[in-house]
Amino acid sequence: MSSVSQLVQTLIRPEIQALSAYHVPDCTGLIKLDAMENPYLVPQSLQDEIAQLVGAAHINRYPDPDPRELKEKIAQLLGLTDGMSVLLGNGSDELIQLLAMAVNKPGAVLLSVEPSFVMYKMIATFVGMRYVGVPLADDYSLDFPATLAAIRREQPALVFLAYPNNPTGNLFAKDQVREIIEASPGLVVIDEAYYAFASDSFVPQLAQYPNLLVMRTFSKLGMAGLRLGFLVGSSQWLAQLEKLRLPYNVGVLPQLVAQKLLDNHDVLLRQAEQIKKDRVALHQALAAIKGVAVFDSEANFLLFRIANATGVFNGLKERGVLIKNLNGGHPMLTDCLRVTVGTPEQNALFIAALQHCLQSTV
Ligand code: PMP
Repeated sequence: MSSVSQLVQTLIRPEIQALSAYHVPDCTGLIKLDAMENPYLVPQSLQDEIAQLVGAAHINRYPDPDPRELKEKIAQLLGLTDGMSVLLGNGSDELIQLLAMAVNKPGAVLLSVEPSFVMYKMIATFVGMRYVGVPLADDYSLDFPATLAAIRREQPALVFLAYPNNPTGNLFAKDQVREIIEASPGLVVIDEAYYAFASDSFVPQLAQYPNLLVMRTFSKLGMAGLRLGFLVGSSQWLAQLEKLRLPYNVGVLPQLVAQKLLDNHDVLLRQAEQIKKDRVALHQALAAIKGVAVFDSEANFLLFRIANATGVFNGLKERGVLIKNLNGGHPMLTDCLRVTVGTPEQNALFIAALQHCLQSTV
């Protein structure tokens, strides 16, 4: 009889065996500035209302498989017009997977740019799609001719563009993205995970392009723990994707709490405004440090380059601050670190810790 390891080797697809699981570091006792979360809770009175709702929730029952009120609220917030609808996911990660499953067939390509959000490539591997990553230009703008050429060559069934991009923080040139949508034979999904911190969106263009969908998430807007992402666009697309959605992908508690939070959307938007202001201050503080090159950002994080990035990352951790080390990953991110904008106090502690690290390494 075969051993477990022999069976695993035989049965698990080689490309899955070659993957590493998505790494989430232990953050116990650390100031957590690694995952683009909103550092603020909502006011206590609202927390109390949520606690009451949760206390009275019918968790003995399956969740509503089609929470119309919640979807209606989202449609209203986005100003969706007739013929457009909303599909909810267990985080936008799940929606990426749904999209990939829906369009996958032998030889189908999922195309994105690099560096960008790692789940596009990972999910292509999960579902057995061929992944094509087109390198960005050196300043992290689109390499427009190369991207168009890749689209013409590869005829991708699915294109993902993060707008703003993670981990670089920038918005790509809108005209170029429009041309990419027009040149694409397949579906183009604009991933607006960081829309709350950005100056632009493709939602107004939805009606214009038959192959365009926009994906968003509430994770960066104070609800990372709820796991709620959504896809918007033509109901004809979403009706097909709806068939692949697992019936109860968004639980009773996330539905209740998200509805409550969306009824208080202004609270979340004020927090996002605060984070945007603090992003400016943090950018200035980083730029003032000798040896740090910080990139402009339209998201709730900043990417910066620094000599000995891994040493600095470890030094920050020793001093109680967890950020994201991108060094050693994509070659265009050599010596790059990414910090989430926290509260003013957290940002100040991060800057102080960074200055200490730099002093102790000279
Ligand atoms: N898209 C982008 C560009 C992201 O950076 C992230 C999270 N880091 C996601 C999607 C996934 O968000 P979630 O699954 O929490 O909705």
